[in-house]
Amino acid sequence: MNKSALVTGITGQDGAYLAKLLLEKGYRVYGFMPRRSSSMNWRLQYLNIDQDIEIIEGDIMDVSSLIRAIKKSQAREIYNLAAQSFVGTSWEQPILTAQVTGLGVVNVLEAIRLTDPSIRFYQASTSEMFGLIQEAEQSEKTPFYPRSPYAAAKIYGHWITINYRESFKMFACSGILFNHESPIRGIEFVTRKVTDAVARIKLGLQKELFLGNIDVKRDWGYAGDYVEAMWLMLQQETPDDYVVATGRTTTVRDMCDIAFKHVGLFYDDHVVIDPRFYRPAEVEVLLGNPAKAKEKLGWEAKTSLAELIHMMVDADMERVEREIKMLGSR
Ligand code: NDP
Ligand code: GDP
Repeated sequence: MNKSALVTGITGQDGAYLAKLLLEKGYRVYGFMPRRSSSMNWRLQYLNIDQDIEIIEGDIMDVSSLIRAIKKSQAREIYNLAAQSFVGTSWEQPILTAQVTGLGVVNVLEAIRLTDPSIRFYQASTSEMFGLIQEAEQSEKTPFYPRSPYAAAKIYGHWITINYRESFKMFACSGILFNHESPIRGIEFVTRKVTDAVARIKLGLQKELFLGNIDVKRDWGYAGDYVEAMWLMLQQETPDDYVVATGRTTTVRDMCDIAFKHVGLFYDDHVVIDPRFYRPAEVEVLLGNPAKAKEKLGWEAKTSLAELIHMMVDADMERVEREIKMLGSR
C-alpha cells in the first residue's frame, strides 16, 4: 500500500509543490484545507495535480479537525505548511498571526501526540527568525532576533517543535527555509509583485511599479527545489533542524534589474519608491549557510536567481497575454 502524507497549507505555494513531489514519489496525498479555501486551489490546478489530491476539510485552529484528518488519512508523515505567512500583514493582524502561525503548530503536534506519536512531523520555520542578524551567514546555530509579529510567532513554532522532539521523542523536524519563490508565489511578495508588474508594463497595461525599501537583501531560491529538502528531512534516521538556502544574497534592486532586463526594459525607468511599503521594522539582509543540509541531506539549491526570475517573468507574461486575449474576445 502507498504511504500517506497529510499536508496543511495545501493551497499555498509550497503545499502545491510538495504535493506534486510526494505524488511523484508514490504517496497518497491528503490536503488539509479550510472550507473558505475550497475555491482557492488554482495552484494545484496550475501544477495539474488538483484531481490527484484528497482534500480533508479542517482548520489548524481546530484540533478536533486535525485529529479527524490524521485518522482519516492514516498519514505517516505530516507537513505543517499552514500559516499567515506574509510579514507585512503580521503587523495588521498580529493576534491572528500568533494564533495560526504560532499556536497552530502546537495544535498539530498535540493532534499527533494524541493520535499516534510515531507519525513524522515537518514544521515550516523561516529565516525571518534571524531578523536583525547576529552573524553574517546564518546557520542552525545562529541566535534569533525577530523583527515582526510573524517572526515572533514562527520562533514559538520552531521551539515547540524541538520541545516535542525532546519531551516525547517525536520525529519532529524544523526546516529553517530562506525565501523561496516560483510562478505561483503569492502576488504580495516582492519577487512576484515585480515579475507581474514587469509583464504588465511590457504589455502596455501599466507604467509604474511602486515598491518600498529596495536596498534590502534576500537569499532567494526556487520553491520547487526547497520542497525536496522538506521531504529529505523526514527520511533521515534521526529528526533534526536544517537551514535551507542558496548561500547567495541579492538586493531587491538587483532582482528588479534581472526581471526588467529579461524583457528589454530598465527598472529605473519604472520603479517608484513608495513609503507605504516600508515596514515598521525591517530585516535588512539574510544570507543562509546551507552546509548542514548539503552534508547530511545531500541537498543543494539547483536553480540560480536569474533562472528563477526569468521563469517567473515568462509565466507572468504568458498569463497576462492570456488575460488580454480573453478581454479582447469579449
Ligand atoms: P502561503 O501563504 O502560500 O500558504 C499558506 C497556506 O496556509 C495557505 O494554503 C493558507 O490557506 C493556509 N492556511 C492559513 N491559515 C490556515 C488555517 N487556519 N488552517 C489551515 N490552513 C491555513 O505560504 P507558502 O506556501 O509560501 O509557505 C508555506 C509555509 O512555509 C508557511 O508556513 C510559511 O510561513 C513558511 N515559509 C515560507 C517561506 C517562503 O519563502 N515561501 C520561507 C520560510 C517559511 P488560505 O490561503 O486559504 O488562507
Ligand atoms: P519577506 O522576506 O518574507 O518579508 O518577503 P517579501 O517578499 O514580502 O519581502 C522581501 C523584502 O522586500 C522585504 O525586506 C521588504 O521590505 C522588501 N520590499 C520592498 N518593497 C516591497 C514591496 O513592495 N512589497 C513587499 N512584499 N516587499 C517589499
